Amino acid sequence: MTIESGAARRVIRGIPGAPGIARGPWARFERARLPLGGRVAAEGAELEVARLAAAAETIAAASEALADDVRKDGHEDEADIFFAHAAIARDPELIDTAVGHVRSQLMDGPAAISAAALAGAELLRGLGDELLRARATDVLDVGDRIARQLAGLPPIGFGLAAPAIVVADDLPPSVTATLPRELVLGIALEGSSPTAHASILARAYGIPAVVGASGLLAAVAGADSSVELLIDGSSGEIVLAPNEADAAQYAGKSEAIQHEHERDRREAGLPAETLDGTAIALLANIGSPAEADAAVALGARGVGLFRTEFLFLERSDPPSESEQLDAYARVAEAFQPDPVTIRLLDVGGDKPIPYLPLAPEDNPFLGVRALRLAATRPDIFLTQLRACYRAAARGRVKVMAPMVADAGDTAILRELADRARQDVVAAGHAIGDVDLGVMLEIPSAVLTAETYFDAIRFASLGTNDLLQYTLAVDRGNPALERYRDALHPALLRLVKLAVDAAARFDIELSVCGEMAGDPAAALALVGLGIRSLSMTASSLPPVRRAIRASSLTDLHAAAVDALAATSASAVRSRFEALVLRT
Ligand code: PEP
Ligand code: MG
Repeated sequence: MTIESGAARRVIRGIPGAPGIARGPWARFERARLPLGGRVAAEGAELEVARLAAAAETIAAASEALADDVRKDGHEDEADIFFAHAAIARDPELIDTAVGHVRSQLMDGPAAISAAALAGAELLRGLGDELLRARATDVLDVGDRIARQLAGLPPIGFGLAAPAIVVADDLPPSVTATLPRELVLGIALEGSSPTAHASILARAYGIPAVVGASGLLAAVAGADSSVELLIDGSSGEIVLAPNEADAAQYAGKSEAIQHEHERDRREAGLPAETLDGTAIALLANIGSPAEADAAVALGARGVGLFRTEFLFLERSDPPSESEQLDAYARVAEAFQPDPVTIRLLDVGGDKPIPYLPLAPEDNPFLGVRALRLAATRPDIFLTQLRACYRAAARGRVKVMAPMVADAGDTAILRELADRARQDVVAAGHAIGDVDLGVMLEIPSAVLTAETYFDAIRFASLGTNDLLQYTLAVDRGNPALERYRDALHPALLRLVKLAVDAAARFDIELSVCGEMAGDPAAALALVGLGIRSLSMTASSLPPVRRAIRASSLTDLHAAAVDALAATSASAVRSRFEALVLRT
């Protein structure tokens, strides 16, 4: 964070939370602190426990009602946030901890639930997973609402008399969802993160947001609320008291963003074809059904990776077969007649879920994760596969297994799929054909491809993990940046092995790691023989442009050299020069 000061002007740098530019006066949201520390007499403890249980149920029901409102408002996926809140309010661990505080320490209900929620939130904050860390705010939000209910206080809301940019330390999801949207120009938060629900909701509602802007609250504290704020949700920049030059610069930027979006949409229908006529299939990576429409609008010809773990997180029990069917069928229908590739659950030691207790591991990335969970929890995968076979009756569905190491894992996938298929037939449900495939993200899976490629229809290179396991580079460790470029010749050689094996067995091969959405790396992949790339929807337009401006002959020549290069940076310079021509 840096603060540059002019007269009254301040520039504060945060993190992009939701794209877009907003300018206007600001309004401070502050959660009124509850007076905590109340006690109950020993003889009143059981009554307080009963009150606590009743208040938790009231908040669970209120969260479900809020979920319905959000859904009716057209935000189907965001509604799930509040179904998850209902699950938190009914979470036996949270309530039992609070009840324990009442009984053993004679805390009153508000104090007990607040302490229990704080402990739950601290636990989440201590986890390595960014997504789970961001869920701490949800636990605090629910705890606070139960405490306010017990204290007889109304739920916190936030009224705005006139259009303004909302400034806060953090915005609880229940407040974000109930903000008077027509008056909220933007959101600027001192804390929070892009994966927190405040950002997710802001993106869904099209409200520009900047988060993690440390120094923001101190900067606005000395300013009158009529002093303007300017926020750029794409760069993460906030300007307090912008001058004429800022205003002009941002007006220009806003217009440029608009033009770029229009251009991307106009070009979405153009074929992703090299100058010498080789067609490349461009597909989308998505994490929820809500992302389908935007991906279709940007020209995705199907989904190459549907990360299903998001359906499984933030709840107290696994999603049912029919919940999963609903999610998968919605995506399959949105992409008809193009295929949707559903990846089986990819969780494990590094992404714990409360209802899937796993033994702690020294090396979670090398541990019991993804398909390896099938040994102890086949039910999880069978339910998921049944939902996939049923969704296949409503659109084109492919299923792929994550973390496949060898032929043995492929056999496990086939066995599970056969059982699930038979179950669906026995239950008399409509069923469709499902192609089975694997992710190539462990080097052994690429090196032994020929021992099992005859048993599958397709494979997809998960280059994020493949890079981590090939170079022994932890995906999340910033100290290892130098090794993290997927254009490393070692990774490219594995890609080449996979391309050759897929050609010999005549199976489809694609790439769905981040590499596919990086124009320079995408060109390298095409040069190596990849004909299908799957990426975040926003990467589709630049990758399409890069492909359309290149000739396969050039890309192939550069790729042959890349295989013998001595460093990723040498390969990168070569392919970036090719992108620059676009
Ligand atoms: C990968 O590993 O490249 C991949 C696409 O899967 P994830 O990023 O979800 O591990
Ligand atoms: Mg992976």
